[in-house]
Amino acid sequence: RLVLGIETSCDDTGAAVLDETGQILGESLHSQKEVHLRTGGIIPTVAQQLHREHIERVVQQALERSGVEPSRLAAVATTVKPGLALSLAVGLRFSQTFARQHNKSFIPIHHMEAHALTVRMLQPVAFPFLVLLVSGGHSLLAVARGVDDFLLLGHALDEAPGDTLDKVARRLSLIKHPQCSTLSGGQAIELLAKDGDRMRVPFRTPMGQTYDCCFSFAGLRNQINMLIKKKEAEEGIEQGDLLSCVNDIAASTQHTVASHLAKRTHRAILFCKANGLLPSHSPTLVLSGGVASNQYIRKALTIITDTTGLRLLCPPAKFCTDNGVMIAWNGVERLREGKGILSPDVDVSYEPKAQLGVDLTAEVKAAAIRLPS
Ligand code: ATP
Ligand code: FE
Repeated sequence: RLVLGIETSCDDTGAAVLDETGQILGESLHSQKEVHLRTGGIIPTVAQQLHREHIERVVQQALERSGVEPSRLAAVATTVKPGLALSLAVGLRFSQTFARQHNKSFIPIHHMEAHALTVRMLQPVAFPFLVLLVSGGHSLLAVARGVDDFLLLGHALDEAPGDTLDKVARRLSLIKHPQCSTLSGGQAIELLAKDGDRMRVPFRTPMGQTYDCCFSFAGLRNQINMLIKKKEAEEGIEQGDLLSCVNDIAASTQHTVASHLAKRTHRAILFCKANGLLPSHSPTLVLSGGVASNQYIRKALTIITDTTGLRLLCPPAKFCTDNGVMIAWNGVERLREGKGILSPDVDVSYEPKAQLGVDLTAEVKAAAIRLPS
């Protein structure tokens, strides 16, 4: 049984055909990143227009590469939540029309569930496992207990870490840096941090006095912005020109983001252990999302998983970011279990905001777990 997966929730138009074992028969991806990099952020109407222009070709290409005729598909799986309304609408409309045309089942997909489960396509990972998803739009910790069974332990209270890194990079005008002109904010900061000394411009790790697993990056960005302003005055340069200490700021920014993520994750692991939420045999932390490709952040999490006896799994970068493959895989998992399979004529609507699973963040906060120093 073959599944066509379609993703348009943000700024990537993706499609893929998978078989029931998770083998990728064909895929295609059109990224809008370059366009949005130039405008300094995603303009929803522009994203929608680009999805419209590319979706047909991307889906055709995935099908052609797979050599699969639409008639052989078992189902069409498409992201319907959460995401940008205008972007979600394009994928949903296209998919439902396609499913009706070819009389195929339709499987609505939760984008974050798909991120969380992608690892199972690559290697055997039994439920339950802990997952940390960190990207441009999200930051969350959850226990994955089944294909449609998640416990939410923590989420972003303001902005997501990838967004913070992108905004700091923009504030530092890293696009003008000869080594960074084509890199995303996160990539630019990782690269520059290698030659920086974080101790020269230290930042406070967020939420040191809040003993839960939620994330906050807005305060950190404020600390960073104030420092940049001060340095610009000291160096006598205008906003928009490169500071001489960009490497130090990059190193300290990256370190503080890593430290915040690691501490929240450490607490989540202790909460899971105290409440028997993870198996005693081979408990696992899965790290995914665009920010997960950061080696410094991975290292920080490795220290946490080593000290708590978990194994850390991180899918290769191409499976950490948005694509059609992860959506198709979620469709495969749902098809196997017969969960959320709709007939093509059911009208489905998209949901820009959609929580992942059962919200346990209040319970986590009430437990007020202190980390060992
Ligand atoms: P979402 O998946 O939540 O809808 P998104 O599409 O913005 O959001 P991704 O494509 O998964 O997310 O990831 C993009 C983000 O990852 C960007 O914010 C980018 O700066 C960040 N990123 C990419 N590479 C790195 C890196 N090496 N270090 C840190 N951050 C990175
Ligand atoms: Fe995503």
